[in-house]
Amino acid sequence: MDCVFCKIINGDIPSTKVYEDDEILAFRDIEPAAPTHILVIPKRHIASAAEIKPEDGALIGHIFAKIADIARLEGIEDAFRVVSNCGRDAGQTVFHLHFHVVGGRELSKWA
Ligand code: 5GP
Ligand code: ZN
Repeated sequence: MDCVFCKIINGDIPSTKVYEDDEILAFRDIEPAAPTHILVIPKRHIASAAEIKPEDGALIGHIFAKIADIARLEGIEDAFRVVSNCGRDAGQTVFHLHFHVVGGRELSKWA
């Protein structure tokens, strides 16, 4: 499959990893929008948040627990944002589910 994030998981494309286990990978965004900008993804290819099923609940819970850990490690636990763009018209450019974790600068409500 021609998916850039699957290639990152496979090691075909290098990345700056922040956290990895059997289920998920966290790595730094190549075009950071803030001092901390990390992408957290499941290793199993899910196209977007629109494809999440009830049986993915444990995986999604695991992702969010690790997001909290990562925020603490980055020192942004008091002010950060988690975003998942879903669909081309919402700004999704990579169609492998990912959560942007953004912080380290002032974050206004929607920008
Ligand atoms: P989206 O636009 O789908 O919400 O988010 C995709 C994100 O992936 C973008 O912020 C983009 O900078 C990042 N990205 C795209 N290709 C690569 C890559 O090869 N390596 C890394 N580290 N990030 C990437
Ligand atoms: Zn993928």
